[in-house]
Amino acid sequence: MTSESGGPRCDRGAGDAAGHPAPRENEPLRRFAGIWCRAVHPLAATTMTPEEFEGYLLPLAHRLSAALRSSPFDTEAAYEVGAALVDAQCTEPDALPAILGVIDAHLVSCSSPGVTLSPPSGESFPGTSSESIPGPSSESFPDPSDEPSHEPLADEEARARCVRLQHALAAGFVRELRERERDEQEAISRAAMAARTEAEKALHASEAKFQAVFEGAVIGVGIAGLDGQVLVVNDAMARMFGGMDFFRPGRNVTEFVHPDDVPGAHELYRELVNGERDHFRIEKPHYRDDGSELWTNLTVTLLRDSSGAPQYQLALAEDITEHRLLRERLRYEATHDELTGLPNRTLFLERLDQVLAADADAERFGVCYLDLDGFKAVNDSLGHVVGDRMLKTVAERLQRCVKAPAELLARVGGDEFLALVTGPAAQADGAGLARRMLAALAEPVRIEGRELRVRASIGVVDGRAGEIGRAEVLRSADITMYRAKAAGGNRFEIADADSNARVIARHSLTNGLPSALEKGEFFIEYQPLVRLTDGTVRGAEALVRWLHPLHGVLGPDQFIPLAEDTGLIVPLGRWVLEQAARQAREWRDAAEDDASLRVNVNLSPCQLSHPTLVSDTVAVLENAGLCPSALCLEVTENDLIGADESALRPLRQLADLGVDIALDDFGTGYSNLSYLRRLPVSQLKLDRSFTRGMQRAPADPVDVKIVEGIVSLAHTLDLAVTVEGVETAVQAEHLRGLGCDTAQGWYYARPGPPERLHTLALADAS
Ligand code: C2E
Ligand code: CA
Ligand code: CA
Repeated sequence: MTSESGGPRCDRGAGDAAGHPAPRENEPLRRFAGIWCRAVHPLAATTMTPEEFEGYLLPLAHRLSAALRSSPFDTEAAYEVGAALVDAQCTEPDALPAILGVIDAHLVSCSSPGVTLSPPSGESFPGTSSESIPGPSSESFPDPSDEPSHEPLADEEARARCVRLQHALAAGFVRELRERERDEQEAISRAAMAARTEAEKALHASEAKFQAVFEGAVIGVGIAGLDGQVLVVNDAMARMFGGMDFFRPGRNVTEFVHPDDVPGAHELYRELVNGERDHFRIEKPHYRDDGSELWTNLTVTLLRDSSGAPQYQLALAEDITEHRLLRERLRYEATHDELTGLPNRTLFLERLDQVLAADADAERFGVCYLDLDGFKAVNDSLGHVVGDRMLKTVAERLQRCVKAPAELLARVGGDEFLALVTGPAAQADGAGLARRMLAALAEPVRIEGRELRVRASIGVVDGRAGEIGRAEVLRSADITMYRAKAAGGNRFEIADADSNARVIARHSLTNGLPSALEKGEFFIEYQPLVRLTDGTVRGAEALVRWLHPLHGVLGPDQFIPLAEDTGLIVPLGRWVLEQAARQAREWRDAAEDDASLRVNVNLSPCQLSHPTLVSDTVAVLENAGLCPSALCLEVTENDLIGADESALRPLRQLADLGVDIALDDFGTGYSNLSYLRRLPVSQLKLDRSFTRGMQRAPADPVDVKIVEGIVSLAHTLDLAVTVEGVETAVQAEHLRGLGCDTAQGWYYARPGPPERLHTLALADAS
């Protein structure tokens, strides 16, 4: 973008040709423009008066405000605003920081959702007739009615966007400045050339021309001999270095070395003065006389005499000290986490990429992916302020474990941290680091008089550079961290391919689960329930299976937990209930003489707390034409421990309707037996573990005592007892003797297709 017109350019002005009345809501942005003007006008080499300048800034303020709230978020406008500010001669070294400082401090508050973005009316530029200040084109200003609706932004989001807008503005600013300086440089070089080649013809004229460009240039210009002796510098160059004194006679450019000079800078210089190259361009630091640091964008060109022999060197220097500081600040903000000051994901990934790309054989690395256990509960119950303080403390403690130069700790999400260690095998010990981090978190965190326990799960991935890609490292760390969580948390696990494969298999099951119901991949097997007194079949328990297209038949233990995690258990459970009710109706229809066959269906905790449990169950029974007493719902003991009256209400309603409720896996939980009285249950299903000791004679006497006690207690409470896992005749006989009512187990039948139950029932009848 050039500025040949010499005047400021603003693609979208604020003027409103339609003459809308000025909405009061624009007041905050007007104020913003006022503050902006006061901060920047003194630093602008503009011919505009402060009032004109403020008028120039107002539409730019509008554009920034609109960009802040744009959806989708877009920084292009800020880039253009940067360029527009260069056009308005805001080019003094301090101008850009001043511009950004005002945006940083005021833009978000002036752009609160109440502030509409309609253009201020009659906001045309003062002096639109002057060609140096072209009037803004009102038709290109966004019509307020076209303005996309803006969601109010969260504070944090608005801050983050504001930083990105500053970044874009600075980029647009620097780009425009650079283009402008390039134009100037070309003019200078052209003049210098002309001065040389036309020396004979128009020596005086061209020298005068050169002199004019030389003196008037915004960028520093200096000429030195091939031996490095400084011959002449212009005012701009002298100002940059702190005064003419810096270039006192005898100064040699070869003295201007700096420890941070780019490697190879000296080589470039040598080639130039030897006539092997015509120019080079580098970013170069210098010390001014007062010791302060100056960064320049330096172009050095070789000037040759008419015969082509090297004669002088011409240096063009642009002061980029402020730009560099700004670039560093923006880079810091873009790569660090605001809350903890730790590096963020961006920086971590940069470092990880470098480590993984290293080809040094000895280079090993360890990555620890740490996620706090139960942090959400802290945030939800104690509030974000406490949550934030906890995160800060955690960050500080972890930082103490990760302080060697070859180590890096980053905060990569709410309560997630990634740590990297590199070096030879002994140092790049991920497990060692994980151990140190857990130890550092062991002591409770004290916040506002509370002692909060911090627990964390860590996934550790160790590897060798060049053997594994970034995505794989992160995925493996993630999976391994989840393994640590699944194993109870507050621990670390080390990645290994087998465990990863298991987790991935689980993951692939979870993916296939939602569509499996629609695709009809589930089916139900029924396992008979047998009356112990006479050995007749009383009914069956419905046990669901998944015929997986890849993995074959999967048992409920392999997918019910996944269905519970994903909420799919509710539709799946309803489907099982429908199928089982329909099946019970069929059995009853087929065996008119035995109308008492019943079906047991398992209920998950999610179903228990689902608001439509009662109405769904009633509807299913009605559709199947089944009476409630033909259905028994099995609920595990653990799901009812601690349930209060309101949680029990649906079960009680179902029990009142006549549906039997059985307490499944009884004896595996820790419920207080007297508690049983409060529950709306009519049956206990004694867990397999209690009757295992009776499979062979003589029976384990302790088991016998326990079962005896439970049976007598259950009968006192009017509960029927079903025993699970009956595998032998001895066992069955023993349990019958102890007074158990019903039995279920392989001794009678394994779970199987529904037709088989009918056959068994018929066999009883005959
Ligand atoms: P459960 O309710 O305790 O079901 C009894 C389990 O014991 C069944 O395993 C059954 O096949 C097995 N079993 C039966 N007799 C014997 C025996 O003599 N010896 C041995 N060793 N095992 C025996 P399955 O089918 O794998 O079911 C496992 C669990 O999955 C069930 O335990 C139940 O809690 C759950 N489940 C099954 N179907 C459903 C369903 O539709 N919904 C819900 N929510 N859970 C279900
Ligand atoms: Ca069961
Ligand atoms: Ca059971």
